[in-house]
Amino acid sequence: MPKKILIVEDNSQNMKVELMALRPYGYTLLQATDGEEALEIAVNNKPDLIIMDIQLPEISGLEVTRRLRQMPTFSHTPIIALTAYAMRGDRERVIEAGCDAYLSKPISTRELPRVVAEMLSERRQDNT
Ligand code: MN
Repeated sequence: MPKKILIVEDNSQNMKVELMALRPYGYTLLQATDGEEALEIAVNNKPDLIIMDIQLPEISGLEVTRRLRQMPTFSHTPIIALTAYAMRGDRERVIEAGCDAYLSKPISTRELPRVVAEMLSERRQDNT
C-alpha cells in the first residue's frame, strides 16, 4: 500500500508545486484547501503524514494541528508545517502546536520530499 499524504494548502500555485514535488514517489496524495476540509479528509482517510500550511483562511494550520493531536488516531501522525515567511518564534509556535517538522516557503522541491521520506521512515521505526 502506498503511503497516504494529506496536503493542506490554500494557495493553488503552492499546491501545484507540492504535488509536483511528491508525485514521483508514488504516494497517494490527498488535498485540502482549508482547515475544516483538512479535518474531514484526515478523519475519513487516516493519512500517514500531513503537510500543513500554517496560514489558512478561517482556522489556522496551528489550530488544525492542535485539533488533530487531540484525536488518538492522529496523536503520532507526522505533521510537517509550512509557513509563508520565517518569523522569529515560528519554529517554537509550530512545535508547541504539535508539528514535527518545519519548512519555510518558498517550497523547496528537493527538501520537501526528503523531509517527507525521513518522517515516514522514523514513524516506521517507532512502530516496530
Ligand atoms: Mn496559505
